[in-house]
Amino acid sequence: MKEKISIVIPCYNEEPMIELFYKEMSNVSKNGLKTYDFEYIFVNDGSSDRTLEIMRKLSVQNPSEVRYLSFSRNFGKEAALYAGLKAASGDFIVVMDVDLQDPPSLLPEMINLLKSDDYDCVGTRRTTRVGEPPIRSFFAKQFYKLINRITDIEIVDGARDYRIMTRQMTDSVLSVSEYNRFSKGIFSWVGYNTTYINYENVERMAGKTNWSFWGLFKYSLDGIVSFSEVPLSISSFIGLFSFIVSILMAIFFTVRTVLFNNPTEGWTSLMVVILGLGGIQLFSIGILGKYVGKMFLEAKKRPLFVIKEQSGTGDETNE
Ligand code: UDP
Ligand code: MG
Repeated sequence: MKEKISIVIPCYNEEPMIELFYKEMSNVSKNGLKTYDFEYIFVNDGSSDRTLEIMRKLSVQNPSEVRYLSFSRNFGKEAALYAGLKAASGDFIVVMDVDLQDPPSLLPEMINLLKSDDYDCVGTRRTTRVGEPPIRSFFAKQFYKLINRITDIEIVDGARDYRIMTRQMTDSVLSVSEYNRFSKGIFSWVGYNTTYINYENVERMAGKTNWSFWGLFKYSLDGIVSFSEVPLSISSFIGLFSFIVSILMAIFFTVRTVLFNNPTEGWTSLMVVILGLGGIQLFSIGILGKYVGKMFLEAKKRPLFVIKEQSGTGDETNE
């Protein structure tokens, strides 16, 4: 029997891209990967355009290959990925964006590498960030540096979500069922042997990116909070540090007053200390709050996504 490659594709408002993507991917699978069966799992992440209609059409035209899941609203790419991985039945599982920023042409090389060596996962990594605002690249770089330093997971700079994994690794990724998903971190956290293929950045074929600067900032912060307790230690350190400074100051002022009869006057100094300490306290509570918030979401144990419709249930025909 042929081995099967499952391709998981999260889509959010990607009406112009889906058919283009499928065509491009089919070219690759027909030319370089004839020895494999393919399974496409398109996940419609609550799109407001005709994305779902196009998925239905595609799955009617190619019932043996194309499946889709459709969420009841937008749950985010992480949830879409999880749903897609869960639905995938292949021996090898590929995660890929629909906008062709993850070149399908790399796939034959990726699978060959995965099979020839002792790897469980072959990922991809952009060596350039051409076409991206410089300020975004700068912050991205700093983020990778920071997260690698303060967590036990390692994320390669420029690593994309685009990767191929063995069945075994996919099952491990699925066993991490936390609500606050930071996939890049989870892929690394599960361990296994991963190698990367480098390629140059490709710009989106159509449509536009769903990321705003703030969106990315929040995503980075969530990534750090999900995998590191260092921010919590930072506030303890600052607390300890200011306590020590206050003791030193107490000694200094007492000695000065007693020995030199030189009491400190000072509304200014008092205000500085009060504001300084107040600031540190609020900052620390903020950090603490971030973790408590995550625990709150995790404790509720809500499902990660809600599926409203999927292929194979007869819904494809009600176009
Ligand atoms: N995506 C999604 N849900 C979202 C946002 C994005 O499923 O809420 C999908 C999107 O359709 C695309 C992939 O995630 O296939 C990457 O999105 P995008 O191209 O906007 O991100 P970028 O390539 O800029 O990182
Ligand atoms: Mg993209």
